[in-house]
Amino acid sequence: MAKPAETRTAGRKALAKPSRSAAETEKIRAALAARRDELRAEYDQTLSEITELQRDRLTDSAGDDQADTGTKTFEREQEISLANSILERITQVERALERLDKGSYGWCERCGNPIPVERLAAFPSATLCVTCKQLEERR
Ligand SMILES: [Zn+2]
Repeated sequence: MAKPAETRTAGRKALAKPSRSAAETEKIRAALAARRDELRAEYDQTLSEITELQRDRLTDSAGDDQADTGTKTFEREQEISLANSILERITQVERALERLDKGSYGWCERCGNPIPVERLAAFPSATLCVTCKQLEERR
């Protein structure tokens, strides 16, 4: 005799999605906003460094030898790729803030448990809780 199939799904509904308190959500929002401001300041700083390197290249390149020019080009490329990665992180934080408003942020994608506020503050793009992340890394 086959066992009734409904036992497989029965009981699942009892597992309500764990919820966060409003205070906790506010804490996450504040941490994300602070991170975004920090990244924006970093981005502005990097942009001004790029502008400076660009200016240096245009003004003193006459006296430079080939190696100097090469170094400056390299530095500028480094700064540009840094600026791009900061911009990427700003986007991630902004997306996180949007998802937070919709209530879909801060839950582990694997186990569905809430990701601790401290972890979200340190890694705004975290989509896994520490336990699941460790399991993932061990594979
Ligand atoms: Zn998890």
